[in-house]
Amino acid sequence: MFTNIDITPLSNAETPFYYYDLSLLQETLKKCANAANLYNFHVHYAMKANFNQRVLEKIQAIGFGADCVSGGEVSKALEVGFDKGKIVFAGVGKSDKEINGALDNDIFCFNVESVQELEVINELAGLKGKRARVAIRINPNVDAYTHHNITTGLDENKFGVNSWDLPACAETLKNSANLEFIGIHFHIGSQITNLDVYKNLCVRVNEFAVWFEERGFTVKVLNVGGGLGIDYHNPDHQIPDFEAYFKIFNDFLEKRPNQEVHFELGRALVGQCSSLISKVLYVKNGKKKNFIILDAGMTELMRPALYQAYHKIQNISKLTDLNEVKYDVVGPICESTDCFGKEVELPETFRGDLIALRSTGAYGEVMASHYNLRDEIRAVYS
Ligand SMILES: *Cc1c(COP(=O)(O)O)cnc(C)c1O
Repeated sequence: MFTNIDITPLSNAETPFYYYDLSLLQETLKKCANAANLYNFHVHYAMKANFNQRVLEKIQAIGFGADCVSGGEVSKALEVGFDKGKIVFAGVGKSDKEINGALDNDIFCFNVESVQELEVINELAGLKGKRARVAIRINPNVDAYTHHNITTGLDENKFGVNSWDLPACAETLKNSANLEFIGIHFHIGSQITNLDVYKNLCVRVNEFAVWFEERGFTVKVLNVGGGLGIDYHNPDHQIPDFEAYFKIFNDFLEKRPNQEVHFELGRALVGQCSSLISKVLYVKNGKKKNFIILDAGMTELMRPALYQAYHKIQNISKLTDLNEVKYDVVGPICESTDCFGKEVELPETFRGDLIALRSTGAYGEVMASHYNLRDEIRAVYS
């Protein structure tokens, strides 16, 4: 077999749908948990990557915390049973309503992205007679060497507090009776495959930790975010090298005794456990181009249209890996960007064949939309 997808249970399901390999997810979670436990590192799952109920239940069961970026995600994390002491709330634009909801639920920590946000959380916590735990999200100006649309840790990005604003942050923290500073937070981008990037991040984290210590703060938590990438070209049974990843932080962070190191992994945990399965509606053979028109489009999988993301495309109705015809593989949506791949080499393909778009576990189902009044996206589990 050229793919690990068994099509037998899939052939009767209505397409398109996300197909989840829950045993691969389980194996991935276990490997990550074991590698993190070696160093006593804490993992919070970045829920925005995938909030499918079955996926969340597995992640909760392994004991990870939840990294949320909206009030809706905080509520969902609580509903699924994540320990509120392991829920963090990040995001550059938290509304008052969202902050109040998180305060009412006594979540572990707000990752705060500006001086003004510190002031707002201090005020809202005060009105409730509470103290909010906060970490400062710092923009470390470290290049993640990934696609520019998913880079978040450079001076020109909207995320985090820039180094020149840190003195104002420290001042505000000292004057805010309803805030408890617990540490510093970083997240420099997504789909990072060059692990050296994380060495550079560690150097910056050490510098900022010392900066806060010199001003009398205790830095209890170093939260280094997520961003670990996956191999989109080799989707079969690929589990990211969590050992090598965590080892870098163990080797390069100057961790104080009793200091905790927190991670926020999304894509690396869920990316490979799902494929989008779609049926060929039409094949158009042109003079210059052949087109495969699928019943799934950018409404089901947005990443290619949004940031030219690559997903491996396979015709799983064929038992051959002999790819002899080139096709542009497109969706049915009335947008020219609704294209999953150009000049994709596939076996000769016919109406009714099943096509798998691989590695769609992260930022796939969660980004599905109702544009064109499309059906609710379906899921099938192994
Ligand atoms: C999106 C996000 C993550 C997870 O990123 P991945 O690339 O999926 O690991 C972690 N932390 C924050 C603050 C995020 O916004």
